[in-house]
Amino acid sequence: MLIDAGPDDGPVDACLDRLGVQGIAMVVLSHLHADHVGGLAGAMRDRAVGAVAVGPVREPTWALQAVARSAAEAGAPLVGLATGRRLLWPALTLDVLGPQRPAGHVDPDDGTAVNDGSLVLRAVTPAVTALLTGDVELAAQADLLISGADLRADVLKMPHHGSRYTSRGFLNAVQARAVLVSVGAGNRYRHPDPGLLGALERSGVAVRRTDTGGDVAVAVDGRPGSELEVVTRGSPLPAPGRRGVRAPAGVRAGEPASVRRKRTARMSRVRRLRSRGRPVPRARPCWWRAPWPTGRSGLPPRRGS
Ligand SMILES: [Zn+2]
Repeated sequence: MLIDAGPDDGPVDACLDRLGVQGIAMVVLSHLHADHVGGLAGAMRDRAVGAVAVGPVREPTWALQAVARSAAEAGAPLVGLATGRRLLWPALTLDVLGPQRPAGHVDPDDGTAVNDGSLVLRAVTPAVTALLTGDVELAAQADLLISGADLRADVLKMPHHGSRYTSRGFLNAVQARAVLVSVGAGNRYRHPDPGLLGALERSGVAVRRTDTGGDVAVAVDGRPGSELEVVTRGSPLPAPGRRGVRAPAGVRAGEPASVRRKRTARMSRVRRLRSRGRPVPRARPCWWRAPWPTGRSGLPPRRGS
């Protein structure tokens, strides 16, 4: 199960490679902003995908069309998820809790309205429960509170990249032990809000953010109620101006073996083509080269956040 694909093909593809993911039962796109759907093709590259799911808010339509094209190219059906649906897999139950009140018409240029149309999912496994909130803002969070849905979860994917438009009431209802913030470094929206994260940390919650921690994983030992271990792996992107230990020739510091194999295979292909005077195809963006978080995408320029 993959929830959202990030803005670009390269990072999500490399992340799934690092995790050894060769197939995905379902890719759920919480909403259609480019920072969530832009990497869809990368997520599906060389992987079997059961379905691509979207919520009831289908704006912006250009993004829906691009998603539909990518899904069709990958041979994955595009399906709609509605609030109240329950999806069952072995050892995983996924309840669709929101959007509670999807608007009949949403202005695609109204970022908050599109965000509030995000799918909100509660994933329950025998060991851990997670609340996956897309980019819901204050109104959608209030709707969830009013609905009486069980929002409690061990792990909360912080709404909207840790935006300040997240209510304390909502966070209190979730009672998470670990809060994960998916957020681009140096973003122009000033996500995440330090006040909110500081308050969570002071109350004993383990807060981890991808802009400073890189890959984040939650490890459990399988027993209900047991301690969660939240680990970060550091950013695979080179730090600006970092000096220090030089990697051996042919090896890039911090580069996972699976990525290195792909890169060296590509380089020998390139050398072969060049030696025959043939044109060399453009490389697809790689994890450490992708101009993340502001970089290219196969989709039109990003709107929303
Ligand atoms: Zn977003």
